[in-house]
Amino acid sequence: MTEPLELYDVTIIGGGPAGMYTAFYSGMRDLKTKLIEAKTELGGFLHMYPEKMIWDVGGITPLRCEQLIRQLDRQARTFEPTIVLGQQIEGLERLEDGTFMLTAATGERHHTRTIILTLGRGITNMQKLELEGANRYEITNLYYTVQELKNFLGKRVLISGGGNSAVDWANELEEIAASVTVVHRRNEFDAMEKHVAHMRQFADVRTPYTVTQLHGQGDAIHQVTVTHAETGEKELLEVDAVIINHGFTRNYGSIAEWGLQMKDGIMVVNEKMETNIPGIFAAGDFVTHASKVRLIAGAFADAILALNSAKLYMDPEAPRMAYVSSHNERFKEKNRAYSVANVNGQSR
Ligand SMILES: Cc1cc2nc3c(=O)[nH]c(=O)nc-3n(C[C@H](O)[C@H](O)[C@H](O)COP(=O)(O)OP(=O)(O)OC[C@H]3O[C@@H](n4cnc5c(N)ncnc54)[C@H](O)[C@@H]3O)c2cc1C
Repeated sequence: MTEPLELYDVTIIGGGPAGMYTAFYSGMRDLKTKLIEAKTELGGFLHMYPEKMIWDVGGITPLRCEQLIRQLDRQARTFEPTIVLGQQIEGLERLEDGTFMLTAATGERHHTRTIILTLGRGITNMQKLELEGANRYEITNLYYTVQELKNFLGKRVLISGGGNSAVDWANELEEIAASVTVVHRRNEFDAMEKHVAHMRQFADVRTPYTVTQLHGQGDAIHQVTVTHAETGEKELLEVDAVIINHGFTRNYGSIAEWGLQMKDGIMVVNEKMETNIPGIFAAGDFVTHASKVRLIAGAFADAILALNSAKLYMDPEAPRMAYVSSHNERFKEKNRAYSVANVNGQSR
């Protein structure tokens, strides 16, 4: 006989800033919490710009995004929620007692009283370069995100793309790369004018051109053929690294078929972060509501509201919000440990 699945109070789907902060706040309210993320690490969309400095999260002095991911991860684990990585949730079943059974693409199941959807932009995948055999260079010098600027030190870098990220990366590489060439299929860039103007001052900007062939030497690309979109004229460029920024695909998978009320591909919630399905709440970039702020700080505010609504759904007599952390008994032991560490001059 198979063991019955453990029943959780709250299951959070999506491990970006909204999901991680919801897991923390759920612990503050003493709820049995599970956080499920499709990718193999927490952090969500923040992994798209790990080297960028973040300035606009309250109470945090400027820090690199990868550091913010680490701090959010650590905070999310404060009350030891169950964290499940590498499972994309697809199936939803409402059981007779009103609880939910979730199924992951891997076949694993999760039993829960309430659900908080923090799916952000869904499962995001970079648009790959549609050239046969291009993928074999992904282990050497074909990049879809800039994880570490130092990889491009002293190199001749070709960037393909015309959006904010492509222009932003070009500008970031000005002082680092030996040269920067930007190739875009249209003459206009879909980015902030002053950033485009800056890029044009130092980069070799070729429009309307597309990358039509990669030439390899061993495992690495050493030349790229670019073709003029109108005349068909070809040019061969010497390169040490190629960055492709052709946007990304967004996919909510089967969750889009759960009967949730979506508008333009985004979840519609009310001011309590309630969805149209009782017991299912949502937060972060996945949602739209009258005061939505599409920022990390906005995701935190949504997370608190969604979690408090989930708590009240399970226990209508419960206080509307968690007791403030400065006076909350849940932190008593942890505060004591911090005091001892301070007395001993250790940082925790
Ligand atoms: C280029 C760029 C720069 C930015 N800079 C800033 C900034 O400086 N300051 C700021 O405040 N904001 C910034 N933002 C916005 C910020 O990144 C978002 O507001 C934030 O990431 C939203 O967090 P989230 O948790 O709602 O979603 P996400 O970060 O998108 O996380 C959603 C998570 O859900 C997971 N998921 C989706 N579907 C499933 C499923 N079915 N099963 C399991 N897991 C699933 C995904 O894999 C992902 O990890 C920036 C955004 C961009 C695009």
